[in-house]
Amino acid sequence: MHLKRLDIIVKVASRCNLDCTYCHWFRDPEVLRLPKTLSPALEEMLFEKLAALIASHQLEHLNLILHGGEPLLFGYRRLAAFLQKAQQLATRSGCRIRCNITTNGVLLNDRLLSLFRQFQVGIAISVDGPKSVHDKYRITVNGKGSYDKVIEAIDRCRSAGIEPALLCVADPSASGKALVKFFADELGSKRFDFLIPNFTRDDEGVASIAQFHIEAFETWFHHYWPKGVVIRHLEGMVEGLLGLTPQIETFGTSNVAAVVIQPDGAIEPHDVLRICGHDAVDTGLNLMDDAIEAIFQHPLWLTPFQAKRHLPENCRQCEFSASCAGGYVMHRYSKTNGFHNSSLYCEDIQQISRHIYDTLLSSMYVEVEG
Ligand code: SF4
Repeated sequence: MHLKRLDIIVKVASRCNLDCTYCHWFRDPEVLRLPKTLSPALEEMLFEKLAALIASHQLEHLNLILHGGEPLLFGYRRLAAFLQKAQQLATRSGCRIRCNITTNGVLLNDRLLSLFRQFQVGIAISVDGPKSVHDKYRITVNGKGSYDKVIEAIDRCRSAGIEPALLCVADPSASGKALVKFFADELGSKRFDFLIPNFTRDDEGVASIAQFHIEAFETWFHHYWPKGVVIRHLEGMVEGLLGLTPQIETFGTSNVAAVVIQPDGAIEPHDVLRICGHDAVDTGLNLMDDAIEAIFQHPLWLTPFQAKRHLPENCRQCEFSASCAGGYVMHRYSKTNGFHNSSLYCEDIQQISRHIYDTLLSSMYVEVEG
């Protein structure tokens, strides 16, 4: 396998200071057996293995995404040492290493922000909408909402000269129009994303996402896209329907290519696969014994990859097959068929795609020269 760039999600902390109702991480009770943080010895081993990986693949870009649980529970001192090591490795190897952190924002403070600015760390903060929506889902263990702290964190980032990306797990019963306006106007964000709730085909009572996304698209496309506002998932759907290759995993042909390093050193495929059960990620590979690239030969890595290339009959016959390509591979999983299904959100995707496609058709014009 020849690699030019790679995303590695490093789970530096396994616990969280929030107890969000939909969290895919804690749906797998096995995560509670993990050490609370990545140990210094494993961190050392991680950088050794990364150096070997970069050298053997002449890797040009490496994206290290610090994740959890809540990655800020790793603490200032450990984060500073980690970022320093990443910078040293980039200098030694010539590989462009970018560090990013995905946080709930609650523990962000000025000291951490000046560290992140020093190492040019990209920050993504989870916020699910206005207080009434956010505080329904993103709660502390005592059931209190986290909205006020998160807004404070966004303000702090901006005062430190950092514009965070905002990630919203979109409540399908919320108004798409109101949420787009909230992020763009009230929070003043130019770049945010609506994530689809993660479920498998075995989950019952999963709400339709069609109305939310159609409303969000209408509002964004006609009012905010012309102002330079990017909603990554909707932009990806537009690109896919225009015949381009969107850089999103939830729609289209791009694969779920991130490697995950757990706090116990386990080397695993993408974390969201946990919704298919612990067996879907339990490779038995570990930094202490294996090279990171050993994952690329592992059946648990290869199976979802192959599922993207081998669509079931109804996907192959579908008018949106080229743009949707079965949707997010995790949403295709069932215990009986594995990944050999269309997406759990298939009907919704068709409805949203048809709406976007018709809108694009009626908005496009062709210029003929001469
Ligand atoms: S819309 Fe449904 S049938 Fe069509 S490609 Fe996507 S998941 Fe498959």
